[in-house]
Amino acid sequence: MAEDMQINPQRAKQLSENLASISSRINAANKSGGQVRLIAVSKLKPATDVLSLHSPPSSSSSQPPSPPHTHFGENYVQELLEKSKILPRSIQWHFIGGLQSNKCKQLAEQIPNLWCVSSVDSVKKADGLEKGRKALVEAGDNNITAEDKLNIKVQVNTSGEESKSGVEPGDTLALCRYIMDKCPHLKLSGLMTIGAIARSKETTPENENEDFVTLRETRDSVAKELGLEELELSMGMSSDFEGAIAMGSSEVRVGSEIFGERPPKKDAVV
Ligand SMILES: *Cc1c(COP(=O)(O)O)cnc(C)c1O
Repeated sequence: MAEDMQINPQRAKQLSENLASISSRINAANKSGGQVRLIAVSKLKPATDVLSLHSPPSSSSSQPPSPPHTHFGENYVQELLEKSKILPRSIQWHFIGGLQSNKCKQLAEQIPNLWCVSSVDSVKKADGLEKGRKALVEAGDNNITAEDKLNIKVQVNTSGEESKSGVEPGDTLALCRYIMDKCPHLKLSGLMTIGAIARSKETTPENENEDFVTLRETRDSVAKELGLEELELSMGMSSDFEGAIAMGSSEVRVGSEIFGERPPKKDAVV
């Protein structure tokens, strides 16, 4: 459990400086003044890294402790299940990775503090998450009621690459409508995209990323059709988050710029 974990003070300090530097870059890029949520993407990084940012050790008495960070993102179901069991319940987990339909129910049922699933691209996955969240609520022992809905972002394949998950922009409305109408334990909160790597590398606040343009246009039309006042845009990662914010992103997902390079999956340790 979290109490037994050893936090390395030097590593904790480094991580908290990295996080503070990303936060100030986000604030500088955010000209609209709207809220931009920062998801710290901790996949393949140890649970102690997450704990360091969520429950920062009290540093020297001259410095105030860093504020706890609560939003963390993970890509692999097994890894998130393990981390969520040993880390504090006050963390708000985001599942942002490629999702298999047959893992959806388990993901939603076994992680009470799963806050959002950002990679939903089929009715089948939405159904699995709905079933899992319903089972979690009905189990009744987690202080989670039917009002505490699981946030959902529909992943859109804006770049048209076969290797990328996500629904086609033109199919986004139908899936969003399905989630709103047929999944009472889920809340449609926004759209998410990754986009093409090449475009990501060229994104700057001045050079608009086409994939982000596509996501924003898709959001505008879906929100209008469904009569929604708010539908978030989750776009922007380490290499392109400032450009994404300039285009109206409400949520960025930043991993390597906070935690450093990731190890290969086979070498990762929770
Ligand atoms: C890994 C990942 C990120 C973070 O990527 P970095 O380049 O390390 O910031 C963001 N979003 C998704 C969907 C990811 O899989």
